[in-house]
Amino acid sequence: MPPSVSNPTPMMQQYLSIKEKYPDTILFYRMGDFYEMFFEDAEVASKALEITLTSRNKNEKASVPMCGVPYRAAQSYIGRLIAGGFKVAVCDQVEDPATAKGLVRREVVRVITPGMVLEDTFLEEKSNNFILSVFRLQDRYALAYLDISTGTFRVTESGSDRAVVEEALRISPREIIFPATSTEAFFGELLRVFPETAVTRMDDREFSHARSRQKLIEHFNTVSLEGFGCEQLKAAVSAAGGLMAYVQETQKQKIEHLDGIETYHLDSFLWLDELSCRNLELLKNLRSGSRQGTLLGILDKTLTPMGGRLIRQWLRYPLVNKEEIEARLDAVEEAVERHTESTGLREHLKSVYDLERLGSKIGMGQCNARDLLSLKQSLQQLPMLAERLSAFSAPLFKGFAHLEALSNLAGLIDDAIREDAPPTINEGGMIKPGFNPQLDQLIQISRDGKGWLLNLEAGEKEKTGIGSLKVRYNRVFGYYIEVPKTHAESVPPHYVRKQTLVNAERYITDELKQFENEVMGAEEKRSAMERDIFNEIRAAVIHLTREIQQAAKTTARIDCLLSFAEIAALGGYCRPILNREGRLHIEEGRHPVVEKTISGERFVPNTICMDQENFQILIITGPNMAGKSTVLRQVALFVLMAQAGSFVPAAKADIALTDRIFTRVGALDNLSAGQSTFMVEMEETANILNNATPDSLVIMDEIGRGTSTFDGLSIAWAVAEYLHDLAGKGVKTLFATHYHELTELARQKPRVRNFNIAVKEWNDEIIFLRKLVEGGTNRSYGIQVARLAGIPEDVIKRSKKILYQIENEGHLSPSPAGEASGQKKAKGAAVQIELFQSLEKSIMERLKSLDVTRMTPLEALNVLDDICKKSRAGSN
Ligand code: ADP
Ligand code: MG
Repeated sequence: MPPSVSNPTPMMQQYLSIKEKYPDTILFYRMGDFYEMFFEDAEVASKALEITLTSRNKNEKASVPMCGVPYRAAQSYIGRLIAGGFKVAVCDQVEDPATAKGLVRREVVRVITPGMVLEDTFLEEKSNNFILSVFRLQDRYALAYLDISTGTFRVTESGSDRAVVEEALRISPREIIFPATSTEAFFGELLRVFPETAVTRMDDREFSHARSRQKLIEHFNTVSLEGFGCEQLKAAVSAAGGLMAYVQETQKQKIEHLDGIETYHLDSFLWLDELSCRNLELLKNLRSGSRQGTLLGILDKTLTPMGGRLIRQWLRYPLVNKEEIEARLDAVEEAVERHTESTGLREHLKSVYDLERLGSKIGMGQCNARDLLSLKQSLQQLPMLAERLSAFSAPLFKGFAHLEALSNLAGLIDDAIREDAPPTINEGGMIKPGFNPQLDQLIQISRDGKGWLLNLEAGEKEKTGIGSLKVRYNRVFGYYIEVPKTHAESVPPHYVRKQTLVNAERYITDELKQFENEVMGAEEKRSAMERDIFNEIRAAVIHLTREIQQAAKTTARIDCLLSFAEIAALGGYCRPILNREGRLHIEEGRHPVVEKTISGERFVPNTICMDQENFQILIITGPNMAGKSTVLRQVALFVLMAQAGSFVPAAKADIALTDRIFTRVGALDNLSAGQSTFMVEMEETANILNNATPDSLVIMDEIGRGTSTFDGLSIAWAVAEYLHDLAGKGVKTLFATHYHELTELARQKPRVRNFNIAVKEWNDEIIFLRKLVEGGTNRSYGIQVARLAGIPEDVIKRSKKILYQIENEGHLSPSPAGEASGQKKAKGAAVQIELFQSLEKSIMERLKSLDVTRMTPLEALNVLDDICKKSRAGSN
C-alpha cells in the first residue's frame, strides 16, 4: 500500500482510488503516451524491468516514486513482469482527453496475470497455459483449470488428496487460485509442490456452490450443468465457479470462446506420476529440461500449434479404455497404409495457424487485421483437408463440420481485409477497396484532398507572392493558411485572420472553409470507419466461435494421428496388440529415444516377455553400462505409447492394458542429483507399494543404492517380495539391480525370474552384447568397465589383484556378529546374507558400488588406497 499522501492532486486521488481495488497487481496507469507506475509498484517494476526510478514532485517533502514505460512498448514490459510472476492491471483513459471535462476518466480494462494471457509473445506455442482453481469440500478435492488462450476448460474431482496433488502436477499450471481461508495441510502440500507458481487467494464466497453454479449456468446460457457432466460434482462446481469469478474480475468482458466445461475422471487415464514422467523423460529431459531427447521430442511431428498441444496431452494422459485406444490405432494404421495421401494432408496442415488461439484472441478483441488474415488462411485449408480425408474411413478422421459457414467467413475476410494490413487497427489501411462504397468515398476525398490542398498552396503562393505560405490542418482550428509575420502586408483582403502566433499569422478563406466541410478529418473518419468494419468482421468471427473451436479440435486430432503415422512409417514401428490378460510381450523392441541418439553403436533390439503367471517379476542384473535402465524404460514407454494410440518400435508387441506405471530410480542413478536422497527414494517406494494394483507396471531401477550395502540389499529384497505378493496376485515389475544376491529370490518366489544383459569376456575385456537373456549373473565386471572408462592400467592391474585376493581368500574369515543378527530368516536369503558379512566381501561390495565413470583417476586411486589399507588390516 502506498503511504498516505497529504493533499493529493485530483489525479493522484484517482490513482489511489483505483489502486486500492487492485492491491496485489502492478498498476499501469495511462498518462498520455506512457503507462506510469507509482509508489511500491514503481520500486518493484523499475527493478524487475531495469528502468529508471524517478519521482513525482521531486522537490516536495512527500515525493512519490515513479517509473514509466511507453504505451506502444507496453506489451513487452508486461510480458517480462508476467514472466516474473507478477500481475499487471492495465488502467486506460476511457474517454477522449480532447473532449473530457476536467480529469480524464480512467478504468482498469484488463488484468494480465501469469495464468491469464492471450498474447502469443507471452505464450509457448505447443504448450497450454493453465490457471488452476483448487477447492475442497469435506472429503472431496476438486480441480478446475482453464487456458484462456484456447478456451480449454476442464474439471475433475477425487476423494484422494494425493491423487489430486499429482493431477495438479500433471496440469502444471502457471497460476493457482483457491479460497483465501484454506489452511489445511492439503493446501500447504500444494504450495510446497509449486514453489514458483503464482498463487492468488480469492474471497471464499466466490466458491460457494449456489453462487458458482449460477455463474456457470449464466455464462454458458444453460439451465443446468447436466450437459457438462458436473452437476453432481459439488466441489468441482465450486472450483469452476471461483475460476469463473476470477476470469470476470480480470478480463472485464464476456469470454465468448469459453463455451463449455469438460468433466473427466482420473481413472479414465493411465496414471503416471510426475516423478515417473521425469524419470522416463517423457516431456522434458533430465539434463536441461528441454524437449530434446524426450519421447515427446521423438513422437511430435505435428504441424499445427493445437496439434502440438494435443499430442503432449495424449502422451501425458494415455487412455485405459481399449475401444478408445483401438480407435486411435485404427486411424494411425490407415494413415500408415495410405502414406502418400497422409503426406498430402500434412502439406495442408502446414498452412493452418493456431485456430484455437486466433479464435480466442479475436473473440476478446486482442487482435489485429493480420490475425484475421491468419484465420482466413487457416479456414481456407479446411475444405481441402476434409476433401482429402473423405478417402479415409477411420472415424477419428471425420468430424469437420460447418464447413460452408466457415468458408463464407473466410470469404468475408478475404473480401474485406487487405493482405498488407498494418499491425494497428486505429490507423486505417486495413480494408480493401470495393468492400464498402462509403469508405471508398472517404478514401477518395482524403486522397484527392491532399492533392487539392497542394494545388491550393501552390496557387496562393503564386497569387500572393509569399513563398513561405503554408496550408495546414490542426484539430482545434481545422484548415488554415499560415503566413510569416514578415509577409503580413502582402496578405490579400479576403483572408480572414484566425490566430496570431509569435512569428506567424493564420488565416482562413471561404474556399478553404468549404473544402474543410467536405473533407474535415476525412482521414480520421476513414480510420474510424475502418475500425467499425473491422469490428463487424470480428463480430462475424465471434458468431462462429464454437464452430472455429470445433474445427481447431478436429484439426489437432488429425494432426496428432498423422504425426503418429509419420513416425510409425519412417521408424519401422508396429501396431501394438492390446490385451486384458496382463501379457506384456515385446519382440525385437527398441528404445524409441535411445535408438535415435546413440552414436557409433547400432541399437540392439530386445525381446522381453512378462505375464501374471510365471514372468511377473524380472530381476535384471548386468554390469554398469550394459543397458539395464534402457530396457526398463523401454518397456514403460511401450505401454505409454500404445495406450496413447501410437505404434511402437518393435517387430511385434502385445501390450497389457495398464492402469498405472510407477518408476523409481535409485538415488545414485538419478541424473537430477542432489534432489534425490535416500529418504525421498524410500518415500516414493512406499507410494508404489501403497498404490500399485495387479494391473500396474512397476519399474525399479537400482533402488536401495543410496544407503549401505546391507540396508540397500535388504530393502530391495523386501520390496521385491512385497511386489510379488501384492494383493495376493502380485504386480508386473522390472527390477534392475547390481545386488546379484537378489537373483536368489527366483528360487523362493514362483513368479520371479532372473535375466541379465549379456556381456562377453574377450581377452580380459568385456564386450557389451546388449542382449537380454534369461539367467542371473554373479559378476559385475566393474574392473573391466573401469578400464573402458579410461582408468590407468596400473590401477586396473592392482584392483584385479585385490579382487583376486578377496575372491579367493576372503570367504575364509568368519562373519562378525552384530549386523547379521537382525537379518531376515528366509532360508536362501539367510545363507546369502551371512556370506557377505565378511570384511573382504564388504570391500568387494564397496568396489562394486563405485561408479568409476563418475570418478577422477585421483579419486579412484584414493579409494583403492583406502581399500588396500583396510584389507591389509583385516587379514592381519
Ligand atoms: P545400465 O543401466 O545397465 O548401466 P544403461 O541402460 O544406462 O545401462 O545403458 C548405457 C548405455 O548403453 C546407453 O546410454 C546406451 O548408449 C547404450 N545402450 C543401452 N542399451 C542399448 C542397446 N540395446 N543397443 C545399443 N546400445 C545400448
Ligand atoms: Mg542404469
